[in-house]
Amino acid sequence: MARRRMVYEGKAKILYEGPEPGTYIQYFKDDATAFNAEKKDVIDGKGVLNNRISEHIMTALGGVGVPTHFIRRLNMREQLIRQVEIIPIEIIVRNVAAGTISKRLGIEEGTPLPRPIVEFCYKDDNLGDPLVAEEHIIAFNWATQQDLDDMIALALRVNDFLSGLFYGVGIKLVDFKIECGRIYEGDFQRLVVADEISPDSCRLWDVETGQKLDKDVFRRDLGNLADAYTEVAKRLGIMPQNGTAPTTGPKLVH
Ligand code: 5GP
Repeated sequence: MARRRMVYEGKAKILYEGPEPGTYIQYFKDDATAFNAEKKDVIDGKGVLNNRISEHIMTALGGVGVPTHFIRRLNMREQLIRQVEIIPIEIIVRNVAAGTISKRLGIEEGTPLPRPIVEFCYKDDNLGDPLVAEEHIIAFNWATQQDLDDMIALALRVNDFLSGLFYGVGIKLVDFKIECGRIYEGDFQRLVVADEISPDSCRLWDVETGQKLDKDVFRRDLGNLADAYTEVAKRLGIMPQNGTAPTTGPKLVH
């Protein structure tokens, strides 16, 4: 059997060439990193949980007409996705102050924001993904004005939908990050939600207790990350309420 070709390896995922032209296979690793990979660990089962949670969210978004790169889950750690041209901008939407906005502007964590706030970061690990203005994005040709308008519209639709989805299972969507990619269809291009949406890329707090159910558990040493992600998966109905984390399945062999 021919060995498949790796296209890209990131901190938490690997992309392989897909079975058909225009597709990739996205593999979710157990590696956890924070602070631009200054803090690192391997969390058994994280990749399996994020694969399932991201599948659930991307499928639900597709169901309400938000275009995504997701095609289908293949196995415990892999999903088939459409090849897209990733725009090198992270779009962050915030509903409640936390993380860098709290630090930067001195707003106490947990303060509700008067309206959802959209921020952009330039995807560059060497620079630590710096916050940038729309002006930078246009001036340096990272995206066009049309792309930007589409990205903001997509991010706000994702925010509205996911805020409701999570609130329905007792979780507050504090903030999240998405990435967008271009898909070419004949002479036209459109933007879709790409990468992943999981507790790695969202802040999720229990509505009643405020307990953190996201990657801050790892960033801030607040307990067991897999347990937090398992709780999210259970609430979303992805795994039974009394089940244990589905941590078995294929593992990456280096
Ligand atoms: P902050 O700017 O407060 O660090 O992050 C805001 C939100 O975006 C958080 O939910 C955080 O998890 C997410 N986020 C920001 N940068 C990244 C990133 O490089 N990778 C991932 N997975 N999430 C990010």
